[in-house]
Amino acid sequence: MADDARLVSGIRRRDDRENIALRPQYLHDIVGQDSVRENLHIIIEAARARQEPVDHILFYGPPGLGKTSLAHVVANEMNVNIRITAGPSIERAGDLAAILTHLKQNDILFIDEVHRLGRAVEEVLYPAMEDFMLDIVIGKGPAAKNVRLNLPRFTVIGATTRLALLAPPLRDRFGAQFRLDFYDQTAMEHIINRAAGMLKVEIRPEGTAEIARRARGTPRIALRLLRRVRDYSQVRADGIITSSVAGEALALMNIDHLGLDDIDRRILSTIIEKYGGGPVGVETIAAAISEDADTIMDVYEPYLLQLGFLARTPRGRTATPLAYEHLGLPVNTKADSSQPPLF
Ligand code: ADP
Repeated sequence: MADDARLVSGIRRRDDRENIALRPQYLHDIVGQDSVRENLHIIIEAARARQEPVDHILFYGPPGLGKTSLAHVVANEMNVNIRITAGPSIERAGDLAAILTHLKQNDILFIDEVHRLGRAVEEVLYPAMEDFMLDIVIGKGPAAKNVRLNLPRFTVIGATTRLALLAPPLRDRFGAQFRLDFYDQTAMEHIINRAAGMLKVEIRPEGTAEIARRARGTPRIALRLLRRVRDYSQVRADGIITSSVAGEALALMNIDHLGLDDIDRRILSTIIEKYGGGPVGVETIAAAISEDADTIMDVYEPYLLQLGFLARTPRGRTATPLAYEHLGLPVNTKADSSQPPLF
């Protein structure tokens, strides 16, 4: 199934556009991620006092947790322009050179999916980040000349869902690196209430709690579920989101009380029923359920790991007794034992 069709994926979809208005603008709008917020506050205050751009910053973590929002927050707090791009859209070194030569002093260049930059592009980015220099080649063949240009001092903010895929030299050039974690129930409720207020949706505290519980600790999913529950409440109820309205709407979407959808359950049941509880490689799971292995690793796996339903071992993924319990299956004793399978 295309990820686009999933409600509980943290990946951005077309109908998330409405979220842009809901984006936190300044540090005080950010709910949760206390340590990241605190550290950013210090970096920003110090840079402001020195009248310098902030250090290069890397945000990493699963999709939908606020990496792009934080980049905008840093730009707003610093009162500077932000230029948005993404790893896959900078195809050639020349594309990056064009972007860099248009930056002004203190500007922020936000590179989403920064782990997907090509090697040649990275080579241009290194001196730009380190020494604010751009090395370009003018002309072709024997007449080609290397030219070195000075760039204004600027900040790169990179975002990635897969830190391990980032080339180490690139990673090292980010002076500040922040891992974003799933949000807790209280933070999620805050985010949902704030959005409901801005969207003028009437919601009861138990309705908020119900959506928050099923949003996988991910603001983007919470906002998406809120909009779907709002639709349901208008058509099937009196427009007010109560606990039962939220529960019915989410059940209709096949999202269970922990926020798992059909695909999550298929991942777990495949490991348990086809592979005796694991260990089994992600590629094998992906092939068995016709999903993309990268999507499994980016979107599904982090939350299943967080719930303690999956464990990662050097030989692959295993389903834990909690996963068996959640699916209502008898616990396979092999899942607890360290004995290798007999076949
Ligand atoms: P990412 O770049 O990590 O995929 P985004 O920054 O695009 O995530 O965030 C997704 C949506 O969730 C945004 O539109 C924003 O409205 C909301 N959001 C993210 N983090 C927060 C937060 N800490 N507080 C309030 N809303 C948030």
